[in-house]
Amino acid sequence: MSLVDNAKELIRKELASAPGPVCVTSSFQADCVTLVHLLIQEQPDIPVLFLDTGYHFAETYKYRDEMVAKLGLKLTNMQAVKTVAEQEAEFGKLYESSPDKCCGFRKVEPLFSGLQPYSVWFTALRRDQSPTRANLAETAPFQLPGGKMIQKVAPLAAWTMRDVWAYNKEHGLPPLPLYDLGYTSIGCEPCTAKPSLDGSDRSGRWGGKKLECGIHIQASS
Ligand code: SF4
Repeated sequence: MSLVDNAKELIRKELASAPGPVCVTSSFQADCVTLVHLLIQEQPDIPVLFLDTGYHFAETYKYRDEMVAKLGLKLTNMQAVKTVAEQEAEFGKLYESSPDKCCGFRKVEPLFSGLQPYSVWFTALRRDQSPTRANLAETAPFQLPGGKMIQKVAPLAAWTMRDVWAYNKEHGLPPLPLYDLGYTSIGCEPCTAKPSLDGSDRSGRWGGKKLECGIHIQASS
């Protein structure tokens, strides 16, 4: 079975067996666009959750809006309790002094709160993105704060970036323009650089000091 067919089969199976509402998170990187495109063929109105940290590149916001219009997406922007200005007035540039705390405020808390209504969470995680994702399962239970268990589904787990680009090209899905500048993993602007020559796609994130922001770590761990 091809990777595309395998992903479609998994998506259909999870949608059919979901005990409650489903959602997909998207940072509008190329693999997220692939997954969202696969999902809307089965459920056009699936909620697309975007972690709007306030620190994204201007290009990312523009591209997000273009893709929402092009694909007719039902977008939800998940935001932190404090604005960027409020956070910086109180703590300064946390992305420099304490990136874990900054990611906690602007990514982990809003995401876990945003996921509470759902029973299934689709993500575009792939095993080859970084060493921290090498053992990624296609499906796994995920515990939210408060104890609620949801199903986390990664239909692209076995895909490579080459597979992603091939799918997007075949389906006329344009890339976020920052890829043309040499970025291979794109998150918040202050914490995103081009990858190291010998590193994984995510090696340019957080200046190489860490590889994960915490949203893919169980709330209970
Ligand atoms: S990626 Fe950087 S700017 Fe974005 S929330 Fe995390 S520390 Fe803050």
